[in-house]
Amino acid sequence: MKKSMVRRTKKEMSEICSICGLPKELCVCEAIAKESQKIFVKSEKKKFGKIYTIIEGIDAKEISLKELLKGLKNRLACGGTIKQGTIELQGEHTKEVKKILIELGFAPSAIEIK
Ligand SMILES: [Zn+2]
Repeated sequence: MKKSMVRRTKKEMSEICSICGLPKELCVCEAIAKESQKIFVKSEKKKFGKIYTIIEGIDAKEISLKELLKGLKNRLACGGTIKQGTIELQGEHTKEVKKILIELGFAPSAIEIK
C-alpha cells in the first residue's frame, strides 16, 4: 500500500488575537492600545519613607502588565509588584520609566509624569 500523497502539512497554528481576529503576527491591537492610552507615572512615599514609582492607566486587557513589569524590573534592577492594575516599582524611577515605555512603543504624548 502506497501511503497517501496528501500529506497534510502541519502548519503551526498561529495565535489569533481575540480583539481583531487576525493572527498575532499581523495584529496591531497592542500597538494601537499603546498609542491611545494615557499613562501616569508618579512617585509616592509610602510606609517607612520608602519611595515607590507608580505606573497607572495601562489597560491590562490590552497590555500584559506582567510582561511589562518583568521588563521594567530587569531594566531598572529593582523590585516591583502589580496592584489592582497599577505597577509599583521600588525606588524613584519616573524619568527612566517614561524612557523605557517609549522604547517599548508607547507614545511619548501618552505618558505623563505627575
Ligand atoms: Zn488584534
